[in-house]
This record gives sequence, structure tokens and C-alpha cells, in this order.
Amino acid sequence: MTRSISIFGATGSIGASTLDLLARQPQHWRVEALTANCQAAELARLALAHKARIAVVADERCLPELREALSGSGIEAGGGAAALVEAASRGADLTVAAIVGCAGLAPTMAAIRAGGTVALANKEALVSAGEVMITAVRRHGATLLPVDSEHNAIFQCLAGNDIADVRWITLTASGGPLREWPLERLQSATVAEAVAHPNWSMGAKISVDSATMFNKGLEFIEAHHLFPVGHERLRIVVHPQSVIHSMVEYRDGSTLAQLGPADMRVPIASALAWPARMDTPCAPLDLPAIGQLTFQAPDEVRFPATKLAREAVAAGGAAPAVLNAANEVAVAAFLAGQIRFTQITQIVAQVLETCDLPPPASLDDVLVVDAEARHRAADMLEPA
Ligand code: NDP
Repeated sequence: MTRSISIFGATGSIGASTLDLLARQPQHWRVEALTANCQAAELARLALAHKARIAVVADERCLPELREALSGSGIEAGGGAAALVEAASRGADLTVAAIVGCAGLAPTMAAIRAGGTVALANKEALVSAGEVMITAVRRHGATLLPVDSEHNAIFQCLAGNDIADVRWITLTASGGPLREWPLERLQSATVAEAVAHPNWSMGAKISVDSATMFNKGLEFIEAHHLFPVGHERLRIVVHPQSVIHSMVEYRDGSTLAQLGPADMRVPIASALAWPARMDTPCAPLDLPAIGQLTFQAPDEVRFPATKLAREAVAAGGAAPAVLNAANEVAVAAFLAGQIRFTQITQIVAQVLETCDLPPPASLDDVLVVDAEARHRAADMLEPA
């Protein structure tokens, strides 16, 4: 059976892993839409290789280059925010939401409103929109399949069980590349040091988030929305080997865990084939070679991001969207060499303290909160 698929953020790390899996079973897939921000030449190459029906760049200035590269191919080219939403509204059997940041929220919501199945990697969209997105999923009969490795692990561990029987959900965290660094040294962490993740190969933004532990903070908020057990039952444990991707403990004392190689093609394959399974080219786990699985409690003095995320969940309302927007601005500033590593968390904390906005009740409300929090965060940027 052939299924249609659209990939939002096709030129990124998750996009590449997804397309790699599709290329291994082209008879099963018909590619509807592929999108990028501005990598028009690369997007055109992918659209041609995978015979997409439409390719869209979010940044309209890159549309002429895309049109030129696709001319004569019969593949439609689109550009701008409205074209992105229009492509998502066409619907597909499966939409992979893999844009980085809140920029992915509007197309993800459009895919949800089209009532299809959404494989969600774009955690910032769910963190920002929270209840608004989950309500839309229910209202439009859409299905949300978590692609983030931790949430995909939890999703798998919950299958066939009653969520009312869950005692704890434990998100594992690698701790990132700066896990062992003392606080004083963290101040001077460079971009190269912060993005050098020991286990995973990922885009720049999520790599910095892993170093600050905001990635785990965002995932805590994401888990709160995906798995309604109450945030008091969610906890984080540092597990440097990234072999166990998360765990669910039930009230009878049984803990189910999902293990796998640190390769995003495993959780992506789980979403692509769900509820069945498919082959992947990933190397099987070699536990004797790994030798040891270790665990430690998160250090929220050196890495306060998870504490800020827990507080944002407890505060509710606009707080998670504010946290996410401030973090996006601060990470971009760090990557641009504008601020020091430790200023990322400081800026997010300051914006959360000063940004008291009404709870968002619609997509437009979320976008207003996002814009205001970005504005406040940008005002706080100081030279490194
Ligand atoms: P990348 O930076 O590698 O790719 C991001 C993609 O989004 C690219 O296609 C990029 O296009 C596009 N994009 C960037 N900005 C915009 C914008 N303003 N509007 C529309 N499209 C845009 O990111 P990753 O693949 O690493 O991550 C994608 C998402 O998946 C993130 O939310 C991340 O947290 C999540 N995730 C990623 C994992 C990973 O292993 N990489 C693991 C778990 C979750 P262009 O190439 O033109 O810039």
C-alpha cells in the first residue's frame, strides 16, 4: 500500500533521516510536500530525487532560486508563511513536523486541522501551543505520533497499558557535551564545544539545547502534554550512554524501558510504520560492548533549565511559550557569538520573571505571546 507523506523541515537533520528511510522503501511512499527555510538548491535536489509534488521555502526571498531549480520538472514551487500553511492544509497520510522552533507551529496546526497523522519532532511547537494543540488534535480527529526519541520511547512503553496505572514517567538525558564542566568553566564554553554532542548528531539549535539542558526542559513540557499523568509524575534522570531512551514505571513496580542505538532513524521508523514495524539500517545494540549503563540525578545548580521548565509547567498559561521563545532568541544570539553560554539560561529566567502574559486560547494568542517574549528577550541581549 502506498501512503502520502509531507516533510516540513526536509533539509534538516530529522528531514535527512526521514528521507533516508523513505528511499529504502520508495514503493510504500508518495511524497506530497517538502519544505525548507531558505536552502532552495538543496530542497530542489530533494524534491527531484523523491518526486515531490510541491516544494516550499518559508523565506519568500528564496522562492526565485527554488523556481529556477525546479523549472521544467512539473514540481510546484511555493514560498512564504502562507504557502507553508497551504501545503500543510493539503493533508497527507503522514506529515512529519521537523521544522526547528516555533516557526513550525502554524504548519503543524494546519496539518492537525487537516485531520491527518502528524509525526512530531518539532517540540517547540507543542511546548508553545500546549493545550491549544492538544485540543485541536482531539477536535479534528488527528493523531500525534511523537518522534523525539524520549517521547517515542514512552509512547512505546505505554502501548497496551492503562495510563491510569502509571506511577512515574522517567525521561532520560545524556547530560550533553558539558555535563562534567564546573560552573566557572561553563561561562566560557564556545559554540564548537556546546554543539559537540557526545552521542547524537543533530541540528545546531537542539545541540545547544542539549548542552544547556533546555532540551530536557522542553521535553519535560512536551511529555506533560503528550502523556497526561500529571507533571508531578514526570522526572528526569541523567543517563550519559543514551541507550535507554526513557522509561515508564507502573503501580505494580514494573518498569518498561525502550532501548536502542542513538540514531533518530529508530524513532522515526517507529512513527513511519506505526502501528506496525519496519526495517532500518541501524546497527543493533551491542550491550556487552557498551558494558555499563549509568544514571545520576540532574544538577540543577549548573544546569537550571530543567527547573525553569518544571516551574513553567506548574505556572501554566503563557509561561511555557515564553520560556520557549526566550530560549530560541538566546540560543540564536549564542550561536551568533553575541552572548556567553551561561547567559542563555539567565535571559530565559529574566524573561520568565518579567513577562506576565494572559494564557493563550488560540493559535493567534500563542503567536502573540511568542512575539512579545522574543521582543523582551532581544532587549536583554548584552554583548558577550
Ligand atoms: P535542523 O536545524 O537540522 O533543520 C531545521 C529544518 O527547519 C530545516 O529544514 C530548515 O530549513 C527548517 N527551518 C529553519 N527555520 C525555519 C523557519 N523559520 N521556517 C520554516 N522552516 C525553517 O533541525 P533538526 O532537524 O535538528 O531539528 C528539527 C526539530 O526536530 C527541532 O524541533 C528539534 O528539536 C527536533 N528534534 C531533532 C532531533 C535531531 O536528532 N536532530 C531529535 C529530536 C527532536 P533550512 O535548511 O532552509 O534552514
